[in-house]
Parts: sequence; C-alpha cells; structure tokens
Amino acid sequence: MTRIDLHTHSTASDGTLTPAELVAAGAAAGLSVLAITDHDTTGGWDAAAEARPAGLTLIRGAELSCRWHGSDPPIPLHLLGYLFDPTAPELVAQLTAMRADRERRAERMVELLRADGVDISWPEVAGYAAGGSVGRPHIAQALIRAGLVATTSEAFASRWLGRRYHIPKFDLDVFDAIRLVRAAGGVTVFAHPRASRRGRVVDDAMITELAAAGLFGLEADHEDHTPEERDQIRALAGRLGLVVTGSSDFHGTHKTVALGANTTAPEAYDKIVAAATGVPAL
Ligand code: AMP
Ligand code: FE
Ligand code: FE
Ligand code: ZN
Repeated sequence: MTRIDLHTHSTASDGTLTPAELVAAGAAAGLSVLAITDHDTTGGWDAAAEARPAGLTLIRGAELSCRWHGSDPPIPLHLLGYLFDPTAPELVAQLTAMRADRERRAERMVELLRADGVDISWPEVAGYAAGGSVGRPHIAQALIRAGLVATTSEAFASRWLGRRYHIPKFDLDVFDAIRLVRAAGGVTVFAHPRASRRGRVVDDAMITELAAAGLFGLEADHEDHTPEERDQIRALAGRLGLVVTGSSDFHGTHKTVALGANTTAPEAYDKIVAAATGVPAL
C-alpha cells in the first residue's frame, strides 16, 4: 500500500516536530511519501532531506500565504508549492519578506494582548518559533502557558487570535504566487479550498481563474472539509482538469490530526512529480 501525505508542518513553521522528527514520524506512520510544507519557508528542507529514512520519499514544498484580490475585502488563502527551486531569486525575496512581516505582526499582536494585561512577551513567543516562520500558533502556546486557554484551537476563538487580537499579515497575491512557483519549476495545489470555518472561501468561478493561471491541483481530502465539500472539489477538479490531493496538514501537537489521516492517490502524486522541474523528489 502506497500512502502519500502531501501537506505537513515542522518546527520550521508552526509544527511541533523538527524536520528530522517529522520524516521519522512519517516513516513510522507507514507513509511512503511525505511532503514538508512549512508556511512561507523552505527552512526545513535540508534537515528533512538529511534525516530522511530509507523507504520514505521526501517531497520538498511550502505552504504560501496568499490573498485573492478579486473581492472586497480580499480573501486569504493557502497555496501549496511543490518541488520548486528554493534559490529562485524573486520567490526567495517574497518568502523572506513574508517571514519578516510575520515577525512584525506577531510582535504587534503580543503588544495588543499585553496592553490588555495578558502576561506574555515577544521574547517568549519568538522563543517558541525558534527561528522558524512565526505564526499565531506560537502566540497560542504563550496563551496556554499563561493559563488563559487550554488548547491552540481555543486560542483561535474570536475573542483571542481569531479576531480580537488578530492583525493581518503581508500575503502574496495568489496569481503572483502561482507564477513565481511555476517560474521556479514547481507545481501548485490550492490547500483546503473549502475550509469555510476559517473565513470566507473563494467560489468555483475564482478557482476556474486560478486554473487558467496555471494552478495544478486542489486539495480535496482535508480534515476541514465535509464529505459533501470533498465531492464538490473532486467534481470541480474533474471539470477543470486539475489533480486532486488529500493530506493531513499535520502540525504535531498544535493540532489533533495524525500523519496520513488523509492521503493522495498515486496517480495524482505521479502527475505532480512529472510536472515539476525545480528540484527532484528525494
Ligand atoms: P497564521 O499563519 O499566523 O495566520 O496562523 C494560522 C495558522 O494557525 C494555520 O496555518 C493553522 O496552522 C493554525 N490554525 C488556524 N486555525 C486553527 C485552529 N482553530 N486550531 C488550531 N490551529 C489553527
Ligand atoms: Fe499552520
Ligand atoms: Fe493551510
Ligand atoms: Zn498547512
């Protein structure tokens, strides 16, 4: 049985396993293929490659924070990029700017919380991120430590990081992101396109435009999608000629989902690998 999980996070962003622990956990979970897709960074690639156990294929990727500017206000969305050249200058510049803005934004969110008497600090949060791409789950960790919430998920309630203390970050225009990843020899898949509980989602017409711009696939099997949503995405992908993927979006203990909770069919995986020219699968 080939088990393929194309969306996981490590400590290079907001996962809780190091890249080396992640590939080991992937093999232990019986995966044959694992993609490392940290938010806005390729920082975990080398450590994951170095620690890759025999028998596990590693796909190097990233999950890019994007925005669709075709509606007002713009809609945030996540784009998975696979097997792109991590030295492509324009892409590197954008990823670097996104991570810098994540720091600025997290520091400001901490200031807002502190102004309301919440006893957390930027050094504490920065320490949890430990040099990786900082995100709200790291602030959530501080809120848990301070005893204000019990879980990461609770910290995303609207009275905390979901809305009240939420500050937007710099996101890539989604069409620019597709263009940049393709120019770097990579392949793009729209992550959890119907995950409505995170906010508004783009409609079929918008996804049709993304397909015309070079989007390669849609992530259908994801824990944030209902069975009906998965069916709708599969049908849309069929109409648009896009591949369909399924993945865990594993984050270690920042989420409850297990590695391999959702998987991608070998045929879809083969198409992704065949279309990419940036870096090889390892
Ligand atoms: P950020 O990238 O800083 O805006 O934070 C968003 C990240 O937080 C997402 O990529 C998820 O990993 C995580 N996240 C979002 N909503 C939740 C939730 N309800 N429970 C746990 N983690 C979440
Ligand atoms: Fe995340
Ligand atoms: Fe995501
Ligand atoms: Zn993710």
